[in-house]
Amino acid sequence: MREMAEQAVLKRVQALEPWMVGLAQELIAIPTVNPYSGDRDAPGEAAGQAWIAERLKELGGHVRCVPVPSDIYARYGLIGPPGREWKGRDNVVAEWEFGKGGPTILLNTHMDTVGTADMAIPPFDPVIRDGYLYGRGSSDSKGNLAMDLTVLRALSEAGPPRQGRLVFESVVDEECSGGGAGTLACCAAGISADLALVTDGPRGLAAIGCNGLATLWLTVKGRAGHSSLNLAVSAIDKGIVVKQAVDAFMEEYGKRHSGCRGTVGVFRAGQLPSTVPGEAVIGVNLKYAIEEARVAERTRGQWSGVLFRERFEQWLRAAVATDAWLGEHPPLLQWTSDMTPFETRADHPCVLAVLEAARDATGETLSAGFMPAWFDGARLALALRIPVIGLGHGELGQAHSAAERVPIGNLVAGARTLALLLTRLFDAFPP
Ligand SMILES: [Zn+2]
Repeated sequence: MREMAEQAVLKRVQALEPWMVGLAQELIAIPTVNPYSGDRDAPGEAAGQAWIAERLKELGGHVRCVPVPSDIYARYGLIGPPGREWKGRDNVVAEWEFGKGGPTILLNTHMDTVGTADMAIPPFDPVIRDGYLYGRGSSDSKGNLAMDLTVLRALSEAGPPRQGRLVFESVVDEECSGGGAGTLACCAAGISADLALVTDGPRGLAAIGCNGLATLWLTVKGRAGHSSLNLAVSAIDKGIVVKQAVDAFMEEYGKRHSGCRGTVGVFRAGQLPSTVPGEAVIGVNLKYAIEEARVAERTRGQWSGVLFRERFEQWLRAAVATDAWLGEHPPLLQWTSDMTPFETRADHPCVLAVLEAARDATGETLSAGFMPAWFDGARLALALRIPVIGLGHGELGQAHSAAERVPIGNLVAGARTLALLLTRLFDAFPP
């Protein structure tokens, strides 16, 4: 019986492959660049969200919009990116009630993309060449959205599951340091599940966690003045000392925690060659290990990078104190976000079910490990305290790239895996 249901859904997925590719193309052609991408006139997610709401209604879902409250980070006691606005940027949520009992399974993916300013191909022209679909968002994460829709349709056409509930979220503000405001808003709206699958990230990985990520701004003061006088103190020179201290900290930290790196992504100072600059501003991302949050939860009662941040501050104070000027004028420090880590147990039955479904659907052995970057799964794990697994089918290294693409074969493999997995999970949960 179960085998028949599995064969039926895989057959439907196969028949829907051209439809899936068409959906991905339609979606890439709709710009949904995050307003904080740095692109001029970035449109935000609205047009894509309207498009997907229509598709979800056609698939029989009960569809609604979930806006992001302006105090969303404060509600969860989080340091979120400041100054973001979410007006006109609603999440789209759809639900299917299959029958009494059984699990509730949540599918979550983001609609926004990063900017297009540096792209080497037309970002919104979804060309197919040599088995690849090109365009902004093809890998991250519009191919995955098309894959999700295809699986939803295949499930209903193959004869829907006899029990359980499925919830699908197309969320906003995941990219461009968005911090997962959209996903958090869905959690705050009371949408929960027994298991969440986040269809984001590269193929080949069942992402059972990610490290934390803290963002920091440092303002380094010098003494502005004319370059012909000796009285001035260059904020560029002092900023370089600070940058080197940051680099040294992360090099040391990375030796003990593999995969944890720091990025000095912004260094701004100076206006004219003839003037010694009085201020430098440095923007830094610091990736921290999940152990930090575990210890912080035990000792401070908060799942966050608070201990990591304090240790960094101490290090920086000590490191710059050796410089006479900086010892007296230490850099001003502002943490603007702390994106918390998460981990789902590798031996959780749902993780094993994902690995098994991939093997049976495609012959592929997924590795269960951490996502190389922070992703929205962390928000679901934090707010809902449920097992969360990332199961994207982008191409490794293509997210945010100048000629972003996705192999169509990835989307086919992903749709097969997801369809088989959901069929099994709805049939028997926990697996
Ligand atoms: Zn993504």
